[in-house]
Amino acid sequence: MSIHILWDHERPEGIELPVARMIKMILGEDIGLVEYPFLVDGYDRERNQHDAQKILDRLQDTLTRRYEFCGPLLLVTPRDLYVNGCDFVFGLARPVSGVAVVSTARLRNDYYGRVPDDVDLIDRVAKEGAHELGHLLGLGHCENPECVMFRPRTLDELDRKKKMLCPVCRETLGPREG
Ligand SMILES: [Zn+2]
Ligand SMILES: [Zn+2]
Repeated sequence: MSIHILWDHERPEGIELPVARMIKMILGEDIGLVEYPFLVDGYDRERNQHDAQKILDRLQDTLTRRYEFCGPLLLVTPRDLYVNGCDFVFGLARPVSGVAVVSTARLRNDYYGRVPDDVDLIDRVAKEGAHELGHLLGLGHCENPECVMFRPRTLDELDRKKKMLCPVCRETLGPREG
């Protein structure tokens, strides 16, 4: 079993390899990279956002059957995401189906009027990607604000996290191969 990251064709350029390398370092799992062949689903015109649940429906139904992946699947998309009851989400995981999605929209400095920086962006996509994949590997949320499995509500809380699992989450995940 290995993890696959699917990349929306409109993602920010050049982040795939560094993000995959960091996620591998955080989780200790091999990562495969795949182009996502569809437009993402769930666009809501009034909100100008995409419904993360609908994106996961598609990942679960079409993609797993088409490619016969056996292992966690993470889609990285530039679309801004929401779920019912929330203004936005950085990402969403559905552990029963092994699928997750992360949005780069609110991980970019320019979204907040700050100077764009690829290093910041790559760090955040890796942390959020590892977080959602952590759910797919059986981890819940962590109280430790520096742990990847901490649930950040703001960009600053996300930036405060380190690119690692705390010892408790690491132990829960158990020994990983390669
Ligand atoms: Zn979470
Ligand atoms: Zn933790």
